[in-house]
Amino acid sequence: MPPPPPSQLVYCNLCQHETAHACLKTIEQPWWLEHVYLVASVVTFDVLQCRGCHGVVLRRSVFDRNGEDTADVRYFPPPMSRRLPEWRDKLPPEQKVLLEEIYRSLDAENLTLPMMGTRALVDMLMLEKVGDSGGFREKLKKFESAGYVSAKGREVLDVVLDLGSAAAHRGHASSGSEVQSVIDIVEDILRTVYVYPKVVEKLKDATPQRIRTKADVP
Ligand SMILES: [Zn+2]
Repeated sequence: MPPPPPSQLVYCNLCQHETAHACLKTIEQPWWLEHVYLVASVVTFDVLQCRGCHGVVLRRSVFDRNGEDTADVRYFPPPMSRRLPEWRDKLPPEQKVLLEEIYRSLDAENLTLPMMGTRALVDMLMLEKVGDSGGFREKLKKFESAGYVSAKGREVLDVVLDLGSAAAHRGHASSGSEVQSVIDIVEDILRTVYVYPKVVEKLKDATPQRIRTKADVP
């Protein structure tokens, strides 16, 4: 098996695009295929480090018996993984727990469970802010009336909720990029509701009062 190149392009979860990675260490072992009795392949584990952010990822490659063709390549953590937002402590406890479970589900490369989880998370958010006022549509309308989202924002959340419903009840499997977009949207609304108001209060306190001049007096 040829040695890995000194630098190779691999997706970096932290940089969120392909970056040059250095291979720090490679371990090679025999690999027994479970479905083919007593047929050995070779597996290599490469410890790769991003040359940009220095994040580390483990790559497992299973080769055929001749050590040439790669049959299966997996990354740990997988490209679906995301870094948990630092502001998650600002969420109500039950929403924080669910957000963390959604992230662990991404670590396992799940697609359907995160969509069901984000739908439940939006439901919890609306329940906390506008109470139990019927179905998702009714809650969304109240959520908009209470000023938490704009009319456009409500339309976006409607699509998110429908995708979660399709995952839960209609067996719809979203793509990895769709799942990432939905999580972006849900995090955005969580930040708007729970994080930004406190940031704005601090900014107000830190801003010196404007000195009123004669021109300000109507
Ligand atoms: Zn990186």
